[in-house]
Amino acid sequence: MTENIYSKLVPEPTPDSMPYWKGLNEGRLLLQECARCWRVRHYPRPVCDACHSFETRWIEASGQGAIHSWTITHHPFHDGYRSDLPYTLVTVDLEEGVRMLARLHAPVDTRLDIGMPVRLVVERAKPGLTLPGFVLAAPATDMSAPSSGER
Ligand SMILES: [Zn+2]
Repeated sequence: MTENIYSKLVPEPTPDSMPYWKGLNEGRLLLQECARCWRVRHYPRPVCDACHSFETRWIEASGQGAIHSWTITHHPFHDGYRSDLPYTLVTVDLEEGVRMLARLHAPVDTRLDIGMPVRLVVERAKPGLTLPGFVLAAPATDMSAPSSGER
């Protein structure tokens, strides 16, 4: 039996990002919220961009968002990703008001649009490491189902 060796890059959690990674391992997306001005921020970092407070708490995000932008990756930036090519990376506007970059789990020829709803999924990459991803929240381009009066 061949041992399955994880050959991709792995994150190196810091004290600031550890709750984020632990949350993903539990299937939850946790975001930092400033405990002084209540601004949500992502990626995890020690200081609030708005009021420069170090006080923070963690909130659980809904996992719902909309596509802000995307790119299709054809070139491996690391050998561990070569067998995944091509794949789509999406920047998502989360309901909580922050943006997040992750893999979109959909065929690369899927028709995408800015504003298209997506939802978070988590993928167990290896023991102790769960990665965030997104899937389309609604079926992509169903020509048989007219939208609500829009043309
Ligand atoms: Zn703040």
